[in-house]
Amino acid sequence: MDKIITKIYTDFNEESCSLDETIFHNANGYIGVRGALEEGAPAQWDTMRGIYINGFYDIIPMKQAEMLCNFVDKKETMLNVADTMTINCIIDGEMLDLTKGTLIEHKRILDMQRGVTKREIIWETSSAKRVKINITRMTSFELLSLFSIEYKVEAVNFEGDIRLLSSHNPDVANYCNPKDPRLAAESLKNLTVKEFFMNEGSSIAISETGVSKLRMCSLADNSIRVSGKSSITQEKTDLFGKQGVYTGSCHICKGDSVTLTKLCIFTDSIRCRDIAGRAAADLELVKQRGLEYYYKSQADYLSAFWAGCDMEIDGDDDMNSAVAFNMYELLQSAAKDAYASIAAKGMSGEGYEGHYFWDTETFIIPFFTLTNPALSKMLLRYRYKTLDKARVNALLLGHKNGALFPWRTITGTECSGYFVSGSAAYHINADIAYAFVNYYLTTGDLDFMREAGEEVLIETARLWMDLGCYNSDNKFVLNVVTGPDEYTCMVNNNYYTNVAAKYNLNWAAKMHKLLEDAGMAKSLDERLNITETELKAFETAAEKMLLLYDEKLGINPQDDSFLSKPVWDVANTPKDKFPLLLNYHPLHLYRYQVCKQADTVLSYFMFENEQPEDVMKRSYEYYEKITTHDSSLSTCVFSIVASRLGLKEKAYDYFGDSAKLDLMNTHNNTKHGIHTANMGGCYMAIVNGFASLRISEEGISLSPFVPGSWKGYGFKFVYKGSLIKIKADRKEVSMELLDGDAVDIKLYGKNYQLLKDNKLVAAMEG
Ligand code: BGC
Repeated sequence: MDKIITKIYTDFNEESCSLDETIFHNANGYIGVRGALEEGAPAQWDTMRGIYINGFYDIIPMKQAEMLCNFVDKKETMLNVADTMTINCIIDGEMLDLTKGTLIEHKRILDMQRGVTKREIIWETSSAKRVKINITRMTSFELLSLFSIEYKVEAVNFEGDIRLLSSHNPDVANYCNPKDPRLAAESLKNLTVKEFFMNEGSSIAISETGVSKLRMCSLADNSIRVSGKSSITQEKTDLFGKQGVYTGSCHICKGDSVTLTKLCIFTDSIRCRDIAGRAAADLELVKQRGLEYYYKSQADYLSAFWAGCDMEIDGDDDMNSAVAFNMYELLQSAAKDAYASIAAKGMSGEGYEGHYFWDTETFIIPFFTLTNPALSKMLLRYRYKTLDKARVNALLLGHKNGALFPWRTITGTECSGYFVSGSAAYHINADIAYAFVNYYLTTGDLDFMREAGEEVLIETARLWMDLGCYNSDNKFVLNVVTGPDEYTCMVNNNYYTNVAAKYNLNWAAKMHKLLEDAGMAKSLDERLNITETELKAFETAAEKMLLLYDEKLGINPQDDSFLSKPVWDVANTPKDKFPLLLNYHPLHLYRYQVCKQADTVLSYFMFENEQPEDVMKRSYEYYEKITTHDSSLSTCVFSIVASRLGLKEKAYDYFGDSAKLDLMNTHNNTKHGIHTANMGGCYMAIVNGFASLRISEEGISLSPFVPGSWKGYGFKFVYKGSLIKIKADRKEVSMELLDGDAVDIKLYGKNYQLLKDNKLVAAMEG
């Protein structure tokens, strides 16, 4: 099945233009380039033209109206670093402008096998000179610093002059929207161009941030070639103030074409010292090898990617592409080095300012842990590198012991301005701990637990001990925290937080035992001063953790006070009042039983053995009525848990909402960037939902069913180095070991051993 998303424009307008800047962006985890039009959009349109470097930021003041003790007063923010995507085309004196002349066809293509985006345009000037324009863009997975554009113009029905103006503008600012709390409120221009020079036809800019004093280099190199008897009349590059403009002029015969190749290189001082030298060397390499080499390596990289994670959905082509799109976007978003992580919007836009949240560990890392554990490890290592800052964060919030990871950050420093639904979301500590444990259970990589995992588990566990206390019933309680649901804040004993902390505490002790048994605990014990008494205290607190249960309703209340509040009538709330966060004061929302997203319900997936099935089912039905899914991190979870509870139709419906969230722009804000957590959640809805894959200390288990009108589906995953393929259709389930050592698997509760070249087939029982 081709992995291609195509859009043919019948109407070209502001909305679709900005939405498709996101959908057709290019990224490789290092650089991200919005799919903004080369020729620019009409000035009055609200679009976001940007190129970003993952982890590259400046620090800006966070205005607090009342600066209470230890409030966050500054934040890191991802910067738009330069504009190297602008290319204007002048056809016999008339500039290409899709809102003028005659637009005959305009197509955009995302090719997820070749790793490129394309635009195909057929356009006529006011004097009916027709050109066919094909544009290909790529951000290379092999050479992360490379972004390329190939811009080909064919003179369809005329002979004449074509001029291509290609610019490099490092003097750019960030997008802002003061009306939307999910975007920066002020337009930021924190990069100063320090040097701008030419080097053999390339323009090179070196810019520096105002406060973090990071430096980055952008380089643009242009060259043109013509076909047939056409000729190049002039090539030159000029510096106009802070902009470099390359002009390639040519005389084109009818049917011939001119192609501009623009090679852009981005480097930064977080990753290397000599940013200009490195950019020049990278350019040299690309020129030596030629762009074709990189197109091929891009396709090879992706063929390896798909070979490790491909999903086949039989009987729903649309869904196939949607699911492939989501996985591709996760790959585009994930940092490929240990200097950065995965932002809530990936590298696709400025929503949430390039910050990393719990989204990474809870929703996205699970995908990589199953399909690309090495990448997962790198992402976890990045978080580990921020542990010292998490220790400082804990101190700032009054804790004497342990580490508290920030709610949103780039380098590990808390960047959340509204602590109520930011810093108070302590559950992020347990989410990170969970991701480390999940990585360990899936890979068996105890070395990494010694290197990083156990320290994270211990320090997060210490934080729970510092935060919590025993109440008069000898129950361990966690007061004044915010759970995943951001419409209910600063509560005592949020069920999700408590159950997640319990897991965290238990695993801190359990992992220690595993390391001790392997003779790997000693140096850690000394360095962190871990004692048996402390580990015992973790276990006792876990055992005594208060997990709320309401006898009357037979459900787990979201927190101590939740059920005493009036119920918000979600079903009868006018559609234009959603998302509620943009229409009601937070305090108003906090006083109702209304959930922005899955909270207690999420725990029924992650910590599913804590409650009997009937309690989970009643709770699910209870929370379903009061959940708005205003957060994109919600429907995927409702789908997974519906699968877990045998609510197959619901599982499929919620999955449908999650799978196409960005492609259909159902949250109405995809123009600000993709929703990466949901994309990971969509993957989990199939693998952990429909197929019910679980990886625990007991090993792998599965109980697949085939949802909706699908004929079947299949996926692959890696368990302790073995690549496994699962296929389910309406009659049977097959399991294959594609690579690696024999693996034991439980299917519908029955044990099997998977051996190489021995496909196992069992009857479908789901
Ligand atoms: C959600 C959070 C999430 C954040 C970033 C918010 O709307 O409520 O759970 O971490 O978006 O995606």
